[in-house]
Amino acid sequence: MSVQSFTFQVKTKGFSDTHNITTKVQEFLSRSKLAIGIAAVFVPGSTASITTIEYESGAIEDLKKAIECLAPQNIHYDHDARWGDGNGFAHVRAALLGPSLSIPFKEGELQLGTWQQIVLIDFDNRPRNREVLVQIVGE
Ligand code: ZN
Repeated sequence: MSVQSFTFQVKTKGFSDTHNITTKVQEFLSRSKLAIGIAAVFVPGSTASITTIEYESGAIEDLKKAIECLAPQNIHYDHDARWGDGNGFAHVRAALLGPSLSIPFKEGELQLGTWQQIVLIDFDNRPRNREVLVQIVGE
């Protein structure tokens, strides 16, 4: 068994800015030369998430609207009252979607559905330079 770690940077605009990172993850998997195992993708920080979606503008807009209903930007957040950084909505959104994903791979290929892409969503209220960690465990 082998464990390999990779990182890459994504420049985001914040406010639910959504990036397709599937190609990057598959690239690292190919570089690892592993055939079977699990690829874990994680974003450090409490205002961004990793999930999967069909990466097309309709589905992305729909997800943004759903998230706006779950944790609206224009309501009171105790976090903002306490810290004044105005991103209470971003912390709640990121907590709901989670910071990581585990994707099984076989014969060196991520076992994603045809219309299923891996996305990084940045919920913060400002542009960020995000580091994404990809840890690949397998043989
Ligand atoms: Zn904050």
